[in-house]
This record gives sequence, C-alpha cells and structure tokens, in this order.
Amino acid sequence: NMASRQFCVGGNWKMNGDQKSIAEICKVLSGAALDPSTQVVIGCPAIYLMQVRNLLPCSIGVAGQNSYKVSKGAFTGEISPAMLKDVGVEWVILGHSERRAIFNESDELIAEKAEHALAEGLKVIACIGESLQEREAGKTNDVVERQMAAYANKIKDWTNVVVAYEPVWAIGTGKTATPDQAQEVHAHLRKWLAEKISPQVSASLRIQYGGSVTGANAKELAKKPDIDGFLVGGASLKPEFVDIINARQ
Ligand code: PGA
Repeated sequence: NMASRQFCVGGNWKMNGDQKSIAEICKVLSGAALDPSTQVVIGCPAIYLMQVRNLLPCSIGVAGQNSYKVSKGAFTGEISPAMLKDVGVEWVILGHSERRAIFNESDELIAEKAEHALAEGLKVIACIGESLQEREAGKTNDVVERQMAAYANKIKDWTNVVVAYEPVWAIGTGKTATPDQAQEVHAHLRKWLAEKISPQVSASLRIQYGGSVTGANAKELAKKPDIDGFLVGGASLKPEFVDIINARQ
C-alpha cells in the first residue's frame, strides 16, 4: 500500500542551466529542510553530472537523463551506464517523452537501455505517457500498457525501477492532470502490474506523476493513494522544488 512505498521526487533539469546557476540550485537544495522520508533524485545534463554529484549531499541521488544500451564502444555522442556509475551517479531517467518524440526512441530501444542500465547497477526512472491525441481518442490505457509491456519484456527485477507516468499534454504546458485524472491512470497501471507481472510488484513499485507539477498543486496530487512521487521539469529549477519534495509533510 501507499504507506509502504517511499515517496520519490525527481527533478528533471532537461537541457537547462550552466555552471553558475547549477551551483546556486545545489546550494538551495543542500541547505533546505527536506522531508527525510522523501527520496530525492536530480536529473541533470550529462556534462554537469560530476559537478552536481560533488555539490549535493549523498542523501540526494543524481541521475543521467539518458544512457546507451551497451557499456562502451563506437557510439559517438553516447554515454553508458558504466560511465555514469564511474562518476558517482546512481540513477538514469529513460524513455522521457522528449526522447521518444524528438529523438525517435522506440519502446524497444528504451526497454533495452533500461535492461542494460539495471544490469550495470543503476536505478532507473522509466517514463511512459500518452499524447493529447491519444487521450482524446480514448487510448490512454492502451498506450501506457504498450509502453509498460515493452519494459516488462526486458525487465525481470523491478526492485530498482521507478515508473514515471507523464501525460505528454501536461509536460511543460501548465496543464497539470487533475489528481483524479492522474490517480485513474496510476490505479490502472497498478492493476495491469498485478495481472501481468505480480501482485508483489504491483504493491511495491513506485509510480511518479509528471507534467506541470508545481509547489501549488503537489500537495493535492500527493494525497492520491497510487501517486508515489513526482518527476518535475520546470519547477525543479526553482526554489519551489523544495515544497514539492515536502508535499507529503
Ligand atoms: P514539467 O516537465 O514539470 O516542466 O511539465 C516534466 C517532465 O518532463 O519530466
């Protein structure tokens, strides 16, 4: 149940920030009174990962925003889970809708990346979510089931996975899903997991909501029984991120 799943909040800085602004955000986070029962993970641009890992306390996790499906080789421009681990990074965000839409990443490639990242010992934030067109066509459940099934083809142990449900129409738009809209999909995912994976995984896997989460709306969303945290873009670059981390307080 809800109480047994640790609340988990990820910040996804996307392709934002520079050394100076990142140092400032890290200072705010390091000095803030964060709910000690919330797990916090910062997804930062690859080039700043070492800086951020050095500036943040070890109680805050650091995530890459992508990684490739093999450990090394002739893959110009890519980074591997082994490299993330080598610089002290514990997490990676995979399958974000921007990777899917802009960089044409398929369900299968994303699942292969997740499989490899887990095998290398990273924790994975595995993103899913439907577009506005898919929602309006009544296909939300079909889409998230297809995306989850692709992960499930490759992932056998879900211990180090957090799923992030992020409806594409809510990302960066200010159009947050209502707590009821988010809860409905999360509950559906929980049911799907119980049927297709196991009741144990269904009960223990954390499912974050993402899409225009703010300090103002986080508390209401966090009350929903199947919302186990957030993946936060825009607001994770601002001091209000602290209020989102503390949404269950
Ligand atoms: P947003 O982004 O909070 O800016 O909507 C969420 C995300 O893309 O993870």
